[in-house]
Amino acid sequence: MSKRLRNCIRGKIPKVDAVRDLLSGIDPEEVQKIHEGTIDTLKKNRVFREGTIGGYVVAGIDGVELFSSTKKSCPDCLIRKNRAGEMEYFHRSVVCMTVGKAPHVILGKEMLKSRDGAEKDEGELTGGKRLIFFIKMHEPKN
Ligand SMILES: [Zn+2]
Repeated sequence: MSKRLRNCIRGKIPKVDAVRDLLSGIDPEEVQKIHEGTIDTLKKNRVFREGTIGGYVVAGIDGVELFSSTKKSCPDCLIRKNRAGEMEYFHRSVVCMTVGKAPHVILGKEMLKSRDGAEKDEGELTGGKRLIFFIKMHEPKN
């Protein structure tokens, strides 16, 4: 477990099977709806006003690697060769988050897609554009 994750967990670290069992019972679409509802409430409560830069609330987009393995893979894995020359399977997403003054709100995330054949896996720029489109699509109509 990476040092970054270890800082998030207090007490006994759960076994990977326990984490997998817990996560497989969660419906990602339900989590997405809860997140969208949270963002709507933040907008309604005017949390996104008087931002840090010229009065604007600013958001940044960056890539985040979620996990990697040289042994386990799935059809959606991105693939690369590691330093030892082994094929490494991993998942990566782009995340859009407000920066500057608190609260730092995650506005959305988009998984980068793998490509079949000789084409390269999708990059952060393509995923970032799709994420912006998705966030704009979910803007409330005024
Ligand atoms: Zn995978």
